[in-house]
Amino acid sequence: MMNCNICGNLMVDAFTTFTVRRDGSVYVVENVPCLECPVCEHISFIQDVAVKLEKYCSGRVLPEKTIAAWGYRWGNLIIEIPKEGNVTSTKNIPLSPTMLGTQHDKKTPRYEGITTSAPI
Ligand SMILES: [Zn+2]
Repeated sequence: MMNCNICGNLMVDAFTTFTVRRDGSVYVVENVPCLECPVCEHISFIQDVAVKLEKYCSGRVLPEKTIAAWGYRWGNLIIEIPKEGNVTSTKNIPLSPTMLGTQHDKKTPRYEGITTSAPI
């Protein structure tokens, strides 16, 4: 068992979507086993998982699929997409359900790198 290195509470087994931007590409790895703090939502990976994440996000592993990423630069002009019925329509790119609201996906850690828990 591991304690959260942010708040000290006991971490529990969970799954997360890991996202990292590296060398101009965005890598998304779904269903990654992790330890999650139920109090502060800090996420940690055991060493074996972190090593595998490094491999997945190396640019040398064939992806299962490619997905569109929407890129913005803060401060640029905001041009909103017109709504059709109740749903924002982009004509060509379907919005995922998590993008339809204003809440971001809390389960997605926004790390610039891969952090690991202490070796067990
Ligand atoms: Zn915590």
